[in-house]
Amino acid sequence: MTMDVSCPYCGLRLTGHAQAYAGAPPIPFAGAVSICLYCAHISLFDEGPLGLYLRFPTPEEWTELRADEALLTAQATVEKERWRWQG
Ligand SMILES: [Zn+2]
Repeated sequence: MTMDVSCPYCGLRLTGHAQAYAGAPPIPFAGAVSICLYCAHISLFDEGPLGLYLRFPTPEEWTELRADEALLTAQATVEKERWRWQG
C-alpha cells in the first residue's frame, strides 16, 4: 500500500509517526487522528484509491475532537514544544 501523507494545513510530508495511546495499532489507519509536529494542527487519516492520506476533520468530527481532553492536551504539548523539532 502506498502512503502519500502530507499535513493538509502546512503541507509537511510525514516521514514517520508514533502512536500516542498504549494499545493503539502501531501503524496509521483510516480514522486515526494525527497531530502535525510542524504546525500542531489536528487532521484525520482516511483511505482513498491511492492509500492513506490526511484530511481536514468535518465540522461534526471537530465537535468530537474538541471534547477529547487527552487529544487537546497532546496538541498543546506539540504546540509548545514544536520549535525544538524545527531547529
Ligand atoms: Zn502541519
